[in-house]
Amino acid sequence: MANFDVIAQELQALKDAGRYRPLTVWEDGSDAWMTLEGGKRVLQMSSNNYLGLTHHPKMKQAAIEATEKYGVGAGSVRTITGTLAIHDELEQKLAAFKGTEAALVFQSGFTTNQGVLGSILGADDVVISDELNHASIIDGIRLTKASRKIFAHKDMDQLEAVLKECGSYRQRVVVTDGVFSMDGDIAPLTTIVELAEKYDALVYVDDAHASGVLGKHGKGSTDHFGLHGRVHFQIGTLSKAIGAVGGYVATSQAAKDLMINNARSFLFSTSLPPSVAASCIAAIDVLKTEPELTERLWSNANSFRDTLKKEGFNTGDSETPIIPIIVGEPARTLEFSKRLLDEGLCAQGIVYPTVSMDKGRVRMIVTAQHTDEDLAFALDALKKVGREFGII
Ligand SMILES: *Cc1c(COP(=O)(O)O)cnc(C)c1O
Repeated sequence: MANFDVIAQELQALKDAGRYRPLTVWEDGSDAWMTLEGGKRVLQMSSNNYLGLTHHPKMKQAAIEATEKYGVGAGSVRTITGTLAIHDELEQKLAAFKGTEAALVFQSGFTTNQGVLGSILGADDVVISDELNHASIIDGIRLTKASRKIFAHKDMDQLEAVLKECGSYRQRVVVTDGVFSMDGDIAPLTTIVELAEKYDALVYVDDAHASGVLGKHGKGSTDHFGLHGRVHFQIGTLSKAIGAVGGYVATSQAAKDLMINNARSFLFSTSLPPSVAASCIAAIDVLKTEPELTERLWSNANSFRDTLKKEGFNTGDSETPIIPIIVGEPARTLEFSKRLLDEGLCAQGIVYPTVSMDKGRVRMIVTAQHTDEDLAFALDALKKVGREFGII
């Protein structure tokens, strides 16, 4: 009889390499301070809940009302009976918010990339992708028959050289993260757009970490750089700063209509629960009416990053609320993260294969919820453990 021997060997190999990561179980919802199983309270600097919206009263209320009205689930995929009025309303709100003709919602940012890339790229096309793009982009590209070209991270000379060679393809699509999730740096979107216009390419930006963070009212990187009308596909997530779950693309009506017919993750998976759609509609209003949340997010992020640098930490290329501290080898990095947790600070260790072998880091995300005392607490823990490890 077949058994799990091979699986057990694979698991042991991960453990031997110091790369095994168990799940951490939390007793309460995403917040600035969270309770570990067993009762220990820790300061949270690993959550994507940038604005604290997971607990926003207006979003909770909207979810409750939608559940009362529509029930707990959508009952079907979008193309059969799963497009409820609340889904339609969310897409109209998102398109208006992003300043595009149309928007299409998916179940997550991950499935958005799979669905959109899969429906716009064919065998005669070429996709040109930054080497540090998110895993969901890489997987989305793998699912297509398009030719692939990778350019070195943010290297615009290389991008131009590739574009120059790609004139004979039916369609060229340049794909980039808006904010890079592991380093917290921002894509040079203005140059990307200019090069794309010069070489007749479409521009595709994944704003998962820019949604609710960059641009006026958190409209994203296209707004941040004043590039309205010049970015063809703006991917957003509803799972990070928006505080719920889901993903979307803001694009043209024609592109939306094609995806409704071709995007497999859209076609073959049930639509978002009505409560989630309702929370996200409420979130768009909150972004517009409570700009102090994004202001607090940025002032927290900038002052915390400045302080860390002054203390001698290597924060890499961070220029957003994502602030890595580079530690090094995987096992050492995970040990560093564990020591921080002992001190009451949750800063997730991120190691190979998510980042390269020697660039293991704890990735911190500063949020609007962190108080000055919280950030001082974090700094004390980092200084203590940083000295133990000799990284400052
Ligand atoms: C987190 C992330 C995603 C996935 O979004 P989910 O809504 O969590 O599935 C996609 N792209 C990037 C760049 C991300 O950081």
